[in-house]
Amino acid sequence: RRAEQQDTKAIQALDSAHYLHPFTDHAGLASRGARVITRADNIYVWDSEGAKILDAMSGLWCVNAGYGRKELADAAYQQMMTLPFYNSFFNTTNVPAVQLATKLASLAPKVGGRSFEHVFFSSSGSESNDTNVRMVRRYWDLLGQPQRKVIISRNNAYHGSTMAGASLGGMGGMHAQGDLPIPNITHIEQPYFFENARPGESEADFGRRAAGWLEAKILEVGADKVAAFIAEPVQGAGGVIIPPETYWPEIQRIVDQYGILLISDEVICAFGRLGHWFAYEKFGYRPDLVTFAKGVTSGYIPLGGVMVGDRVARVLIEKGGEFNHGYTYSGHPVACAVALANLELMERENLVGRVKDDTGPYLARRFAELKDHPLVGGAETCGFVAGLVLVKNKATNAMFDADLGVGMICRGHCFKNGLIMRAVGDRMIIAPPLVMTHAQIDEMMALIVRCLDATLDDLRS
Ligand code: PLP
Repeated sequence: RRAEQQDTKAIQALDSAHYLHPFTDHAGLASRGARVITRADNIYVWDSEGAKILDAMSGLWCVNAGYGRKELADAAYQQMMTLPFYNSFFNTTNVPAVQLATKLASLAPKVGGRSFEHVFFSSSGSESNDTNVRMVRRYWDLLGQPQRKVIISRNNAYHGSTMAGASLGGMGGMHAQGDLPIPNITHIEQPYFFENARPGESEADFGRRAAGWLEAKILEVGADKVAAFIAEPVQGAGGVIIPPETYWPEIQRIVDQYGILLISDEVICAFGRLGHWFAYEKFGYRPDLVTFAKGVTSGYIPLGGVMVGDRVARVLIEKGGEFNHGYTYSGHPVACAVALANLELMERENLVGRVKDDTGPYLARRFAELKDHPLVGGAETCGFVAGLVLVKNKATNAMFDADLGVGMICRGHCFKNGLIMRAVGDRMIIAPPLVMTHAQIDEMMALIVRCLDATLDDLRS
């Protein structure tokens, strides 16, 4: 154990000296020391001190099939030995990319007669959303409406870290760095019932009113200038904000009425996370473009893309000529081979069906019990994402002083107790691997209660 500790210190010293991490405050990192994660299996990760940690976040919402899946490593090895790389620019292609595009087209549900026969590949969610911005503008240019440039998004959304991705996102902290958003991107309020509902307003009424903010924004911008609306089915990084049932049908009515494109950013929500291969099916809306990444390979290798619906594909293909856009790694054969193996594994183990009909409802039942905890003002799940809000007063739902950072206090107790849970302000959120069993859900829930109790003790002392 002492040898491991020495390793930890040495790695931490090199880490803070050389590695600029994403989303990390580096001041004091050298003395704090980053936690060094060294290995993983199933739903657990281990750190360099030997601590076993239940990963209720699936890494970054991506390890849907769980850790340690040999099939995925084998698929990468086989493909690397056969064709480790070739591009698909300039009329070339490769077999895994073709097979994956075909597979994804078959998995994407046809809602309201619309289908997704085409896929554009990238390596991440951010690149995919950049692709969306260019594709949407190209679509309207080709239709002779180049003035349709404005994309409407929502506050607190997360759509990635590239210039366009961070601009589409609605995170004030990101906009403040780098002079964002870029032109022609604007935001409306998120459908967060807990925070934004009026006193006495029903969830159904709130859902319709929240969707109405889109219509108001379209009218403010000018309907003939709006190109698209982009949204996550359930806001993930914003704190697992689950919209009321009335929200998406009303959004669909509005985008139909004004003829604007609908982009469903399913980087988190696709591939079983909400109990469906694609999340728009759960809410019954009809997107024109669907962003995906993360779960398509269970995070084992970078891969993302855009499912391109018929409405857009037809214009790009029939009127388009060459679309001057693409990445070296678009349709990377190894990434596509791993994705195919991952989707096959998920089908064989019925992971999507289990979340929909078995483990998802079980998690919902167990998670709802948290509402009895003195610190919890609300707790909801949707498939295998869940969020709870920590409140100072259960009777009034009064929140803690933001400066107290009660979410971070709770997160600290999670770390100490072998549980990875994320804090978004005072919301605590999870997105567990889809392989989680009932017994493991029980184990996770016991840890969550222990961490909530420890937080409460802290606040009382
Ligand atoms: N879109 C959504 C909804 C996301 O949650 C994320 C990442 O968390 C992204 C886009 C960006 O994906 P990436 O980090 O792969 O660029």
